[in-house]
Amino acid sequence: MSEQQTDQQAKTKFQIQHDRPNCIGCAACAAIAPDFWTMSEDGKSDIVASKKREDGWEELDIEEKNFALNKEAADSCPVNVIHIVDKETGDKVI
Ligand code: SF4
Repeated sequence: MSEQQTDQQAKTKFQIQHDRPNCIGCAACAAIAPDFWTMSEDGKSDIVASKKREDGWEELDIEEKNFALNKEAADSCPVNVIHIVDKETGDKVI
């Protein structure tokens, strides 16, 4: 593995996941972290520049420096459809 790849992996320590089918569109996430969360025309939120999964969930790898803000967004979600996974351990932080 090249040094660059290692650097990139170290940077994206976490992955945010959005259970979009169960999002109720309250917009709390987009208010707290607008660089990462945006409201869509169908009334639900989207993770900005995320990978869309076939089951309707969205995923985005994030750097450690962006963890706290996205954790705050996840904590604000009234239906707990925002999850954060530690990519190293596979543990679900929230
Ligand atoms: S806070 Fe939760 S329910 Fe509200 S828009 Fe964001 S993901 Fe959807």
